[in-house]
Amino acid sequence: MALFILLYFPQQKAVARGPAQVKTVLNGANLYGEDHTTVIISIPKNDHVLILEEQEKWSKVSYQNEVGYVKNAAMSRTMPSIKRIVSKNSPILRVTNNQQAQQLSTIDSNTFVQVYAHTENGFSLIQNGDLLGYVYSTVLVTPTTTKKVVNDPNGVAVRAFTDLSQPILTTIPDKTVINLFTMDNDWAYIQVGDTQGYVIASKIKAFSDTKEKYNNGVLLKNKRVALTFDDGPHKTITRQILKTLHQYDAKATFFVTGRNAERYPTILKEVVAAGHEVGNHTYNHPKLTTIPLEDAQSQIQSTNKLVESIIGQEPTLFRPPYGAYNSQIQETLEVPIIMWSVDTLDWKHGNPKKLLQNVKAQAKNGSIILMHDIHQSTADGLEDVLKYLTKQGYEFVTVSEIVN
Ligand code: ZN
Repeated sequence: MALFILLYFPQQKAVARGPAQVKTVLNGANLYGEDHTTVIISIPKNDHVLILEEQEKWSKVSYQNEVGYVKNAAMSRTMPSIKRIVSKNSPILRVTNNQQAQQLSTIDSNTFVQVYAHTENGFSLIQNGDLLGYVYSTVLVTPTTTKKVVNDPNGVAVRAFTDLSQPILTTIPDKTVINLFTMDNDWAYIQVGDTQGYVIASKIKAFSDTKEKYNNGVLLKNKRVALTFDDGPHKTITRQILKTLHQYDAKATFFVTGRNAERYPTILKEVVAAGHEVGNHTYNHPKLTTIPLEDAQSQIQSTNKLVESIIGQEPTLFRPPYGAYNSQIQETLEVPIIMWSVDTLDWKHGNPKKLLQNVKAQAKNGSIILMHDIHQSTADGLEDVLKYLTKQGYEFVTVSEIVN
């Protein structure tokens, strides 16, 4: 393998810098001699020049066979399109769009070039490294690209050639989406914006449309849980929970009782303002299956109206106290009944450590986790729960996001 690399090394046409910039002469301009006074040739409108050296007001440029000076104000940067040379023979790069014109070089098939213009007689103006010239348009094909994303905290360096000793043209930041044209051993020829060149292939990875999310520096793994808090709002505990949720960028669902919403309307408003979801948990928490149906309906309806009067909208979910309901109750509801899949038993043990243990033992992707924002031990243990689940790559979403 080492021998292979050595053999190929001399073929790399190394230059001391990246490819020269190409600019368009907007309204036509003169190419001047070194004295900036003698006119060498007049460059027609919309023709292109290769910038050899940029100075304050003038640039040293190459135009066809001539080298001279053009005023910077007369030129503007041109965005090329990228094409691939495909030809049985190595096409000839010529000074002008004429098959008799002087030959600058030949170009290997499969070379990527920058294309600036097409002429009426079937030539294209292309740049290959430091050469600007014309080839037959028929040898140019549009390469297919694959979306990739930069995968290195330090970003990725772009070079004009597949050689680490070559200067860096620019560095593309981590997570930038780029277009990959082709792979060349350990190098990838890529394009992003007006930058094209080679990057080390191991520093880019497949692009997936699902945008990567991070929480407290941890990459989330497309796993979600819905945290639910019942029986509040509580005059102090709910706020403590809101604060912890905020730290972890967590959205949750609060199944409130009408009675407590009535008592602490300001706190209910804070819950909604923080982006959490509100569910109905009856007015004063009866076991609905043990009371007359009309009373059950009244428990639900009065709470709907009450919540609406505070936050401007009725709850979009319902959770029956003790999980107790029957088909008659279900039929009267216009919103889904939401149970849970992870019971932390926080009301029973009142122990922050057990809260975490129960979550660890049961939580998985899609879990709906039952807690209560009326127990101090729940508020105290919540941070460890969020820390643990975050490390596992979970995102915290509302019940509606899980259910839909
Ligand atoms: Zn409850």
